[in-house]
Amino acid sequence: MKLFEYQAKELFAEHGIPVPDSTLISCISELNKALEEIGLPCVLKAQVLQGGRGKAGLVKLVRTKEEASAEAERILKVTGKKLLVEGAVRFEKEMYLAITVDPVSGSALVMACLEGGVEIEEIARTKPEKIIKEKVDTSWGMMPFQASNVMYSLGLDKNQAAEGSKILLKLYELFVKNDAELVEINPLMILKDGTMIAADGKVNLDDNALFKHSRYSITRDHFKNDLEYEAAQDGIPYIQFDGDIGLMVAGAGLANVVYDLISYYGGTVKNYLEFGGPNYHKAQKCMKMMLDNKPKCILIATFGTIARADVMAQGIVDAVRELKPDIPIVAVIRGTGEEEAQELLRSVGLNPLDDTEEAVKKAVELAGGGSR
Ligand code: GDP
Ligand code: MN
Repeated sequence: MKLFEYQAKELFAEHGIPVPDSTLISCISELNKALEEIGLPCVLKAQVLQGGRGKAGLVKLVRTKEEASAEAERILKVTGKKLLVEGAVRFEKEMYLAITVDPVSGSALVMACLEGGVEIEEIARTKPEKIIKEKVDTSWGMMPFQASNVMYSLGLDKNQAAEGSKILLKLYELFVKNDAELVEINPLMILKDGTMIAADGKVNLDDNALFKHSRYSITRDHFKNDLEYEAAQDGIPYIQFDGDIGLMVAGAGLANVVYDLISYYGGTVKNYLEFGGPNYHKAQKCMKMMLDNKPKCILIATFGTIARADVMAQGIVDAVRELKPDIPIVAVIRGTGEEEAQELLRSVGLNPLDDTEEAVKKAVELAGGGSR
């Protein structure tokens, strides 16, 4: 789970990592009060989960009340999400500082670069030697000398290195305590007097450890639209596109193949949801979400080995009886128990196919597409 910047900064502050003063607002009427608290100039920052906000015009330094109000209104409108009003910082340099998991060695990996800021991806591509890396054995934890090593390798002077090491050790503590997969400060601003302040923050938590961190839960702001949010609350992976065919698939690999086949035969996908794994008991909910999105037809493609085909088919049959869909449904439900599955599907008037490619062709045809 990705935390929003304001949540990441709350964690930073709790762990003693300096952050600018800030106030979170949800609508334009709260702006004046926030400006009184924070003062001008300030930075307006969209609380969206994607990176690169600066380049997308979603982080704006504003100097006057008028400018603040125009920019806040614009950003709130384009994102529909919360906005962080944060005190502007006068800085000399921007450092990139992150800790992630190194899957090969199984250790924590520190990455640091003195050319941080919005161009860090470009630096990683063109000047990778500028990025200092240090592996940390998690059974020992980060040793103070390792933190100093990173800072001196960057070329910082004694005072800056001491300050940077202190922050890195705190960041490591935060990383471990919160079962994070990634913690990132970009930029960690270096001020004229050598002090440092985290002007941005990213924290991704390991979903498998979320049960230990009940203060965080998914909210509507984590998603692009209501349907994706609704699905996630039921643990159903759901992606909205803008084509014609509603795709219900069990298994991410199969979903990729079916999606590619649809494109190959000239069709388009309206939305995709995953009802494999534990979700095959949720066929009714899944089909309702499909129908609400009004595709031209629904293509159900599964291949069950442990999750049985007949159990999935029963779910589909119950859903069809209950929801009485008025659009065509193409079903190819294969795997363990597929004879029973086909019989069940026939009992509600569906015509089950046993070849995925044929099913795709049929769905594309029913959706009115198809150039091949
Ligand atoms: P990102 O583009 O989503 O990573 O958003 P950031 O919070 O990192 O902001 C983008 C850039 O805005 C930073 O890299 C800075 O170069 C620039 N910036 C200039 N002044 C400030 C300031 O006072 N505060 C912050 N947060 N960013 C500033
Ligand atoms: Mn940033």
